[in-house]
Amino acid sequence: MNQMAAIRAPLKPVDLRQVNRGIVFRLIRERGQTTRTELVHDSGLSKATVSEIVAGLLEQGFVREVGKHSNGRGRSQVVLEFDALARLVVGAQLDDQACALVLADLSARPRHKVVVPAPGGAPADFVAALDQGVAALRPLAEAPILGLGLGAPGSVDPGGRRVTVSVPLGWRDVPIAELVEARVGLPVLAANRAKVAALGELWHGAGKGIEHLVYVFIGAGIVAGIVIDGALYFGSAGGAGELGHVTVLPDGPMCGCGNQGCLHTLAAESAIIRRARAKARRVDGTLLSQMTDGLLGQITLGVLRDAAERGDAAALETLAEAGAYLGLAIANVVNLVNPQLVVLGGPIAALGDPIVEPIRREVRRRALWDSLVELAIVPSSLGDEAGAIGAAALFLESLGSMATVTAPAEPMAGVTAR
Ligand SMILES: [Zn+2]
Repeated sequence: MNQMAAIRAPLKPVDLRQVNRGIVFRLIRERGQTTRTELVHDSGLSKATVSEIVAGLLEQGFVREVGKHSNGRGRSQVVLEFDALARLVVGAQLDDQACALVLADLSARPRHKVVVPAPGGAPADFVAALDQGVAALRPLAEAPILGLGLGAPGSVDPGGRRVTVSVPLGWRDVPIAELVEARVGLPVLAANRAKVAALGELWHGAGKGIEHLVYVFIGAGIVAGIVIDGALYFGSAGGAGELGHVTVLPDGPMCGCGNQGCLHTLAAESAIIRRARAKARRVDGTLLSQMTDGLLGQITLGVLRDAAERGDAAALETLAEAGAYLGLAIANVVNLVNPQLVVLGGPIAALGDPIVEPIRREVRRRALWDSLVELAIVPSSLGDEAGAIGAAALFLESLGSMATVTAPAEPMAGVTAR
């Protein structure tokens, strides 16, 4: 079983048959096409167990038989094919002002997308927006919806049920999965929104086919989603990947976490804006002042981007300094984890070369040569959708330890079973 399934607590006591079923289900999904013999070989399960599980999956329509394949020794094998459209899942990401939802197939490939505004920032605002989003997606569903994966703000407990704390939103111990389940009527599994975005990149972004990947969200906060051996790594209490609170300047500014000189205080969105304003105060004739008529409080990320695009030295310097701190922290991650790929996401990474190049430069300067040989550092190609697709993938990853695959496939109201 993979790392995540082992760490994330199942919703019910572990049922060995469910676990075995999850293993076979995952193998068939990953292969696309396979045979019973291959499944016995690759799962380590007995022939009888595999046959029984395959029979169940055939009956429920997750798998179909598509002809025969000869193994060269005179025996032919029935080819089994995964039907990614047999069921659907919803993936949702709670952004600061909105909920982005995708209706995805069993390969986490999005089929429909909807964005619902969620001003207010209270749990109830997000729950209402999610309900509205799911209601908009339900009539589009060509198959029953199994459940909802949720990319939530803040720290999420390892069981995927509660937001233990979100400092910017002022949430503390919010049972988000339970709240959404009660309102929407689907099983819910949550994880931090930046961490699930790593799964989005792994399944359908730059990380496709890659086993070791680090996704770094750079925006209001800085969080890393670490994928090791193809599975998202959560740590013992779900806290792995808190890159924003890695120390990069021992005597640096105080951070909300109580520590000093965290990366967050030097390279998160608020820190970058603060540094841009301070620089504009010191540098004569910068576009940052001209574009805001000297009202430096009006320097936003958009102003900074425009000034950088026009080659303004103060804007470029601001981003280069933040990029150097980001690169320093990422170089440490590269030395620890040895990923093949670092994907940069979020609104700061979306500023492009003026921030991405300084990050690359600093990582190349500091990381060990062995770790750099195979390493690429790229901006996210999925953009805002990475979190929602990753949340769908999160739910799909969990199917081995959840009752949903084994539950009778009752179509949701208003949905016609295939
Ligand atoms: Zn901190």
